[in-house]
Amino acid sequence: MTMNATGRPTAPTSAPAPSSPADAALLPAEALLFEIGDRDHSGVDLPDLEVGDERLAGLRRKTPLDLPGLTEPEAMRHYVRLSRRNYSIDSGMYPLGSCTMKHNPRLNEKMARLPGFADVHPLQPVATVQGALGVIEELAHWLMELTNTSAVAMSPKAGAHGELCGMMAIRAAHAANGQSHRDVVLVPESAHGTNPATAAFLGYKVRSIDANANGTVDVAAVKAAIDDNVAAIMLTNPNTCGLFEPEIIEIAEAIHEAGAYFYCDGANFNAIMGVVRPGDLGIDAMHINLHKTFSTPHGGGGPGAGPVVLSQALAPFAPVPFVRRSGDGLELVEHPDATSLGRLTAFHGQMGMYVRALTYMLSHGKDGLAQAARDAVLNANYIKAGLDDLFTAPFDGQPVMHEVLFDDSFLKGTGVSTLDFAKAMIDEGFHPMTMYFPLVVHGAMLIEPTESESRQTLDAFIATMRELAEDAVAGNAERFTAAPIRAPLARLDETRAARQPRLIWRHEKTEAS
Ligand SMILES: *Cc1c(COP(=O)(O)O)cnc(C)c1O
Repeated sequence: MTMNATGRPTAPTSAPAPSSPADAALLPAEALLFEIGDRDHSGVDLPDLEVGDERLAGLRRKTPLDLPGLTEPEAMRHYVRLSRRNYSIDSGMYPLGSCTMKHNPRLNEKMARLPGFADVHPLQPVATVQGALGVIEELAHWLMELTNTSAVAMSPKAGAHGELCGMMAIRAAHAANGQSHRDVVLVPESAHGTNPATAAFLGYKVRSIDANANGTVDVAAVKAAIDDNVAAIMLTNPNTCGLFEPEIIEIAEAIHEAGAYFYCDGANFNAIMGVVRPGDLGIDAMHINLHKTFSTPHGGGGPGAGPVVLSQALAPFAPVPFVRRSGDGLELVEHPDATSLGRLTAFHGQMGMYVRALTYMLSHGKDGLAQAARDAVLNANYIKAGLDDLFTAPFDGQPVMHEVLFDDSFLKGTGVSTLDFAKAMIDEGFHPMTMYFPLVVHGAMLIEPTESESRQTLDAFIATMRELAEDAVAGNAERFTAAPIRAPLARLDETRAARQPRLIWRHEKTEAS
């Protein structure tokens, strides 16, 4: 690797010329706010404070706060420059598998910013927030309709939080039925890490189930793992290999026969919404990641939300609060009855996410949601067909759902790892796919285009991936191991960043001391 005058490594000769080089002149290194600003600057002129009686006793701070002062243009430029160094769903394709990084329609944002939603306070009298409660109620109705379930807990704030909610409902149900001795949760090997973590967090023992040669779970393997101590199974469908579990109904029957419950990880609901109703498959509890299925991906507009739909058997154990019709208005039920598992969050959940998700549903309609799911599946299979001959798939021979999984066997002997390959994608203008997950596959590359991407974008992605694969196999490892060279920062020492993160910044003058 060679360095140019700016200290940035230059492209190895095998790489094509950069189409849009990160130009040092226009993308200067960005200093911290604390380095740009000082205490004498301010974006606003405030009158001097009249300090009245001292009411802080001994608690008043003795040293200056040392916040950086910046003029308005300085502050604005700092943040705009930073934003330009960031890759986002609004600047290009984000093929992360398992994450469902779909487009975030601007209509959703407009609705979420309506003052009647954005400015409500969780402690306002319910008579003044009937519209907001109406949104929660209607969204809950859509979620139960789409899943054919009896109840939904709206308050969980992420997928993992939803898992906790669903598994607490299962634990409460077992306790109510005198089955508290059940202390084992079955979790397939291919599960998202949050599944075993949730089970372990609640004190359950995790019993792992192997995937078969097709990357799915056999009912025979589940039956072999069942005994009187099994409380539940946590199964993802479609699973993290991008495959629909073909024996899911038989698995549900076997689990119920054994007196256990079926927790379904529904984070990949984008592949089946409007097409399959999980309640028809026999699930008892399932979280839905509003931030994956109904737009608003991570970083695309706000926090997440992980409502949990519940079967009739688990509905009595749902947490508070929930919205209920009373007379011609809506009320918030805030106090748990004898069976409810209680309260999971301080207030009522993520209002902004509810508005965005319902806007997405209403603007698509039921038929539009099913179309989005079908298009997501079509796009994943289009990528699979475009790469199949060069990339190696661990579970070949079947169409995939919303995401396509490759492994690293096509890179064997090239000196290029999955990580190197992903870094080279950055140089070609594509955000990498999910790497090294699911763990059941060596050097996994998990690609999920979602329904958002046009055929033109998919073709460009496929062409880039093909060109990279051919170059790796042709022996040009240096292009990969040196990558990225066109990103604002080149290859980072990720191990050091993870092990010795520098989380505190100090003024130079104090740093020496
Ligand atoms: C994203 C995801 C989760 C966790 O959801 P969070 O909102 O990130 O907590 C769980 N399971 C699967 C399969 C996922 O893809």
